[in-house]
Amino acid sequence: CGIIGYSGSSANAVEVLLEGLEKVEYRGYDSAGIAFVTDTGIQIEKKEGKLENLKNHMKNFEVLSYTGIGHTRWATHGVPTDRNAHPHYSENKDVALIHNGIIENYAEIKKELLEQGVKFSSDTDTEVVAQLFSKLYDGDLYSTLKKVLKRIRGTYAFAIIHKDFPDKMICCRNHSPLIVGLGEHQNFIASDVSAILKYTRDIIYLEDGDVALVSKDNVIVYDKNEKEVKREVKKVEWNF
Ligand code: GLU
Repeated sequence: CGIIGYSGSSANAVEVLLEGLEKVEYRGYDSAGIAFVTDTGIQIEKKEGKLENLKNHMKNFEVLSYTGIGHTRWATHGVPTDRNAHPHYSENKDVALIHNGIIENYAEIKKELLEQGVKFSSDTDTEVVAQLFSKLYDGDLYSTLKKVLKRIRGTYAFAIIHKDFPDKMICCRNHSPLIVGLGEHQNFIASDVSAILKYTRDIIYLEDGDVALVSKDNVIVYDKNEKEVKREVKKVEWNF
């Protein structure tokens, strides 16, 4: 339902994510979660119910991170529980992913992965994509994501982090809104502008089929034909 992602060098990603999720609460949701990069790998925290539950759960955590993704979920596949909340991840937590939308052919891919011995930890359509990403991972985020997208059908906005690229996020969209916000040595991903308006008004509105590779000083956008493209940066003038 709501998506936010942060890659930067000054703000604590955990704070930016929790604050951003608060700003998209108005969209409605049944659970919330974040994944962020630490010195030891990817840490994932998620809770059913109000954002307050997640915040209380994290109250005494001493965490500093510069890259992470956050999600408020509106369940379509799998009841609202801690384990079905996003981010979803691969068995060894090398990849964490959040998703808005529906993966139509998830059951068939899940069956295949189960036959290959993959262990699932949720009942969602989304987890299949995280597991598939890990399975198809070839050392390159963009080429792996392209392989994943060739296998799945449905509507989606994804934001993904991988432990091998602790300062990067990769995201893409198909019939679900997704934007990239540009800052000073920090860049953002969001499902809508309100999540990141506090930090930037310079916005790239991704188009269907776009993939964006986002780090603190760099944003690369590829279109559906796998061509690197320059998308217009728009200035948001209104206040939320
Ligand atoms: N289909 C996914 C789920 O049920 C994503 C829901 C959403 O868009 O929040 O977990």
